[in-house]
Amino acid sequence: RPRAFSGIQPTAGSFHLGNYLGAIRQYVALQETHDAFYSVVDLHAVTVPQDPAELRANSRLAAAQLLAAGLDPERCTLFVQSHVPEHAQLAWLMNCITGFGEASRMTQFKDKSARHGADQATVGLFTYPMLMVADILLYDADAVPVGEDQRQHLELTRNLAERFNSRFGATFKVPEPHILKEVAKIYDLQDPSVKMSKSASTPKGLVNLLDEPKATAKKFKSAVTDTDTEIRFDAEAKPGVSNLLTIYSTLTGAGIPELEQKYAGKGYGALKTDLAEVMVEFVTPFRERTQAYLDDPETLDSILAKGAEKARTVASETLAQAYDRVGFVPAK
Ligand code: ATP
Ligand code: MG
Repeated sequence: RPRAFSGIQPTAGSFHLGNYLGAIRQYVALQETHDAFYSVVDLHAVTVPQDPAELRANSRLAAAQLLAAGLDPERCTLFVQSHVPEHAQLAWLMNCITGFGEASRMTQFKDKSARHGADQATVGLFTYPMLMVADILLYDADAVPVGEDQRQHLELTRNLAERFNSRFGATFKVPEPHILKEVAKIYDLQDPSVKMSKSASTPKGLVNLLDEPKATAKKFKSAVTDTDTEIRFDAEAKPGVSNLLTIYSTLTGAGIPELEQKYAGKGYGALKTDLAEVMVEFVTPFRERTQAYLDDPETLDSILAKGAEKARTVASETLAQAYDRVGFVPAK
């Protein structure tokens, strides 16, 4: 079976609809075809200021949500990144083969450091992409399910894997991004020119999966569309309506042409009301399943402990090989 790996940050508590449609749904699907490893990447979360109690709670909450979304510990490996020390260890080797200028060109670092204020940004935020490279390479991943915003980091991963292999001999698999075009970028409901984001969206534009379903319905009803009235998919001319159609289509399985036909001659109000209903039907059981995992922390922690053990078996072998290739003396 080919391998899949992806990581998701536990930063904000609730996952949002962009995380779910752009990434988590693909994690669930790839369990069927791949030997899949998924990680709650808490080391990445501390690249920006964190409250310790919140981070701990949010890491368990992230795992609970991934299980509620359909990850099955019998069919994939789910673990917390800090439980597998090889991630930080391989990241060091990746830092040491990355050019300073190369790392400086990462657009996510530029965006996030600008948002935090250049002098507030940490060295950890700067080296974040090389940690992500290590995350992926440790598992010899063939496929990495992510949203469009991670494409540049995936390109860096491929470059560093090839660089290491050509300098030290074949060691790492060169992975492919698994980015589904239709859902790779879900937009903010209030500003359909920017991606929905944990850290950058306004509360009204950000659909958190764990929000009160009523509040979520309201956000859809007041989503920004345009002054036209026609319900038609056109990402350029009608980004707001197109975003709503993408969400609707992905959650229900109805094709976009089918939806365009269904709403022909009807106003935006009808589309928004129906989509609000679709969302409520989706998030209500999702919230319940998440809560059920949180109510049973022993089971949750034991799933994560087993996942970490399985992950370490693979990761320690890859790291040992990489250490050997760069010329470290074996620790016997
Ligand atoms: P931040 O703004 O802090 O970077 P985020 O909202 O981008 O947070 P991440 O934890 O960085 O969330 O991303 C988790 C996964 O969700 C990644 O694979 C990312 O590509 C994907 N993702 C995030 N936002 C979207 C979006 N709006 N549409 C599609 N995929 C997304
Ligand atoms: Mg992100």
